Amino acid sequence: MKLLPLLSKHRETYIRFTTFGLGLVLTFATLQLFLLLPQMSPRYFVIPTLLGLLIGGMLSTLVAMRKEINDRQQVIHAVADLAQEFIYLRRVDGSYEYVSPSCQKVTGYQQEDFYSRPNFMTELIHTDDRPTWNKHVHQMHTNGQAETLLVRINTREGDVRWIEHLCGDVRDDKGKILGVRSINMDVTERIQREQELWIAASTFETHEGIIITDANAHILRVNRAFCEITGYSSDEVIGYTPSILKSGRHDASFYEDMWKTLHAEGRWDGELWDRRKNGEVYPKNLTITAVKDATGRVTNYVGMFTDITVRKQAEDEIYRLAYYDPLTRMPNRRLLMDRLHQAMAASERNGSYGAVLFIDMDNFKDLNDTRGHDMGDKLLVEVAARLVTCVRSEDTVARLGGDEFVVMLANIGDDEAFVFKRAEAVATKVLTTLNQPYQIGSYEYLGTASIGVTLFKGLSTSVEDLLKHSDVALYQAKNSGRATLCLFDPSMQQALEERSAMKEDLRMALLGNQFCLYFQAQVDAGGGCTGAEVLLRWLHPQRGLISPADFIPFAEESGMIVAIDLWVLEKACEQLAEWSSHKVNGDVVLAVNISAPSFMRPDFVADVLAIVNAKGITPSLLKLELTETSLIRGIDDTIAKMDRLISAGISFSLDDFGTGYSSLSYLRRLPIDLLKIDREFVRHLTGESNEVVIVRTIVGMAQNLGLRVIAEGVETQEQFEILNSFGCPGYQGYLFARPLPVEGFESWLENH
Ligand code: C2E
Ligand code: CA
Ligand code: CA
Repeated sequence: MKLLPLLSKHRETYIRFTTFGLGLVLTFATLQLFLLLPQMSPRYFVIPTLLGLLIGGMLSTLVAMRKEINDRQQVIHAVADLAQEFIYLRRVDGSYEYVSPSCQKVTGYQQEDFYSRPNFMTELIHTDDRPTWNKHVHQMHTNGQAETLLVRINTREGDVRWIEHLCGDVRDDKGKILGVRSINMDVTERIQREQELWIAASTFETHEGIIITDANAHILRVNRAFCEITGYSSDEVIGYTPSILKSGRHDASFYEDMWKTLHAEGRWDGELWDRRKNGEVYPKNLTITAVKDATGRVTNYVGMFTDITVRKQAEDEIYRLAYYDPLTRMPNRRLLMDRLHQAMAASERNGSYGAVLFIDMDNFKDLNDTRGHDMGDKLLVEVAARLVTCVRSEDTVARLGGDEFVVMLANIGDDEAFVFKRAEAVATKVLTTLNQPYQIGSYEYLGTASIGVTLFKGLSTSVEDLLKHSDVALYQAKNSGRATLCLFDPSMQQALEERSAMKEDLRMALLGNQFCLYFQAQVDAGGGCTGAEVLLRWLHPQRGLISPADFIPFAEESGMIVAIDLWVLEKACEQLAEWSSHKVNGDVVLAVNISAPSFMRPDFVADVLAIVNAKGITPSLLKLELTETSLIRGIDDTIAKMDRLISAGISFSLDDFGTGYSSLSYLRRLPIDLLKIDREFVRHLTGESNEVVIVRTIVGMAQNLGLRVIAEGVETQEQFEILNSFGCPGYQGYLFARPLPVEGFESWLENH
């Protein structure tokens, strides 16, 4: 029985027809003969004729079929003869019906070797692969199906070669398995290449996951690290494409781009998210390399990856630290700047406005100072939480540091008037929300906030300027009494620029010796000198002599005042030291002005004593002029400081009396020995004015308390006479002496 498929249905019908037709013709001829020869018995004709007809028909059919089969077989063999692969047809009994000539190329043996020895192929299989092979053959004979097999054979020359063995069954009409057809490809080179790749790849760090695929991206091999990272065993992935690892986090275009790069450059590397077998999505750093053969055809892809979950987490942490405020977990300045920039760029495109609200808690420092930083921190966390409730999710609430917060409202409309109202409404809401009492632990804190608001549209202003503008508006809000909001307008900016230029200049002034001291005499009712006030002068290289009234506020604001006051104190002491041996000036008491920020420093007392000791002056010749702002905060602390200096011999006077809100009882507690009546009262002193009553009361009261009094700014004889009529003991003013440089003051003294 031939294994090749039998004739086609058409052919068969055709042959049957032909045979049948031939039979009819023969029958007809026999009948004719019978009619011609009536004397013969019909039986002798009919039976042999029919038999002949039948046998003839069958024979001719068989002959035709055999020819057909041979023809077809010849064609098929001719084709198979041409194939590079080694093709054979084997019957169930193991004998070979057909073996293609390429068997020699693949195995080294001749076709005859196969034809003469049943199951010869089995003999060639490498002993290590025999069990697999036998199982495969058995499966083929029972099921008629088996998977493609990769086995080694021993060639006639004694080499070992890898064969990819593909096969299928051959069955008869009833489905009975008659034999096996098989194609065997020599894949030795490919396998060697893969092994080389594997060896090459495996020499890399073992904690890298490695996948090797064929040219169609079907996984051929994976390493242990792959299994550890992905959770898949190698059996579970071999034969599949790496797409089984997809996380779904990247869209189709991501993978398209990856393949495009791979095809164009033969390499892709980057980060991507994959999914482990347990469903967990994780980030990996992946490098894919296309491996090509000598002809430039891609034969394999090698993928190497590391699980970067930990690194990513560290990166995220670094990002969080870099862009978020650790206390409130709000975006920090850097992230705010970034978002502002984006919002401004978006606004440039869509023409919509945005707003920046610069928020600052009023008197936050007091809470920090009096209740501790822990309390302060808790308040800030609460403030941040409240701010978030005031805005939309797309808005940004950032903490710039300290008690400064910024709210950025993006995309709030394109009609300026409307946008203004909108920003104002949000700012008002923020104010109301922040002004509600805070429960910090068991402590109820009443805090208020001030807000500076500025709008933005497009990229016309820089991010830095925008923040500066809202800061200016905030400054304005603070100046206009706090707990309020203020919208930025450009004139504020100009004022600010002058202020900041001044601050910068002040720094230079101290370094560049642009300061000097003036001295203004203080006299008693008889005109005798009782001392002098030290007044600072700034000889600005461009602007000339600048009054302290014009720069002290900036010095206080910028903190420069601390250094300035110490400088003045040092110079004043030097002056006292210089005069100490002088017979006219030797007992002049110098009064030095001390600003509140200087006095409130914890080191203040120590610094003053250090200077006094260093200059070796008589401490009783030094008087410190304080204003009420220095004294009202923490009275116990104030008194303690003053007492330490008093016990060293230094005395105090209270400057600008009457402008603040000092009460009598309060004054009584302070260890001062001199009150200076503010020159605003003196200026308005005329016969009938209210000031007459006020000043008279102050003088009387001071005397009751045992305090000395000096009236400041006495310019006219009339003012002097009124004051004198109340019994005012001390005077300072242009009427007696202007503030003078040291030489001027010394000669003034000599003339008195
Ligand atoms: P102050 O402590 O009230 O000083 C008195 C101011 O009144 C001085 O102004 C003085 O020149 C001015 N003055 C004196 N007599 C008259 C007068 O008859 N009529 C008028 N109209 N004014 C008179 P100055 O020197 O411009 O100082 C202004 C303020 O600057 C001072 O007010 C003081 O608060 C502050 N200041 C001056 N020097 C220093 C200093 O060294 N350190 C600190 N912290 N502040 C200083
Ligand atoms: Ca003063
Ligand atoms: Ca004064």
